[in-house]
Amino acid sequence: MSALLDLHDIARSYVTRKGLFGQRKLVRAVDGISLTVNPGETLGIVGESGSGKSTLGRMALGLETPDEGHVTFDGAPMPSHGTPAWRALRRQMQMVFQDPLGALDRRLPVIEQIIEPLIIHGIDGDHRRAGLTALSAVGLSADHGLRYPHELSGGQRQRVVIARALITDPRLLVCDEPVSALDVSIQAQVVNLLIDLQAARGLGMVFISHDLRVVRQIAARVAVMYLGRVVEEAAATDLFRAPQHPYTRALVSAAPSPGPRRIERVILTGEPPNPAARPTGCAFHPRCPVALPRCRTEAPALSRIAPGHAAACHLLSPAAKVAAR
Ligand code: SF4
Repeated sequence: MSALLDLHDIARSYVTRKGLFGQRKLVRAVDGISLTVNPGETLGIVGESGSGKSTLGRMALGLETPDEGHVTFDGAPMPSHGTPAWRALRRQMQMVFQDPLGALDRRLPVIEQIIEPLIIHGIDGDHRRAGLTALSAVGLSADHGLRYPHELSGGQRQRVVIARALITDPRLLVCDEPVSALDVSIQAQVVNLLIDLQAARGLGMVFISHDLRVVRQIAARVAVMYLGRVVEEAAATDLFRAPQHPYTRALVSAAPSPGPRRIERVILTGEPPNPAARPTGCAFHPRCPVALPRCRTEAPALSRIAPGHAAACHLLSPAAKVAAR
């Protein structure tokens, strides 16, 4: 099976705003990441704020162009943002953001906003009927469609955004923190809705979140990001059962677990990641409880540590394991 989405060694930098002394900095938000998403697969992207996960999501949709590396969608290079070829592809790739109120127009009934992509992409047919079907698919009624965004709850508004994203029948959905603005009880409902829709439609999905509890529910594979790089990637079951990278171990140990806790709690100390002040060597070394002297100067490569499981840590490299025997 060929990948629906292939990110190959992509990197993206940006220049910061002027600081107190008028200086600007070049920040590498995403730094050499390779990931794939197969049709019908959900890839979870986990990381703290500043890890580069949203920039990665935007490059996956062609909203930003990598400075290095390339993105392919369904085997073909991603066209440049805004070109006719990109706009033609856009109906097959949709995004759901964190803030549904910001994504919707307060002045329009929501059904008009749900059917808008059909008009934008010149898709013929009975738009009203398609809008009602989309509302029903996300668990809302025709009456909800006549309301304005401020007349709906946060969870209902996010359902509207999902209906709008799915009305063009896309093959790829990128969700960037789609439930983090919602109450915990509503989060589970929206995540279950996404799981059902993804399975019914065979959607490829990139699910970006800082919340491991949510990613655990929805993702088949998970990539953990730290300061623009992937530090661990594995099947979700392996990653949550036996996380290998010290950063992932700390995240998993702190997240609520459905069963008995198997991993000793690791408390992360030090400052959260600041993309404008990347530490030398392994970027995690100032916070790592098991750092070695070489970690301050040598950046570990992401390498395979088991079938389908990769991590970037000197302690986990094949050479380190041989030396430890
Ligand atoms: Fe910790 Fe060193 Fe591994 Fe980085 S490379 S995670 S600092 S042990």
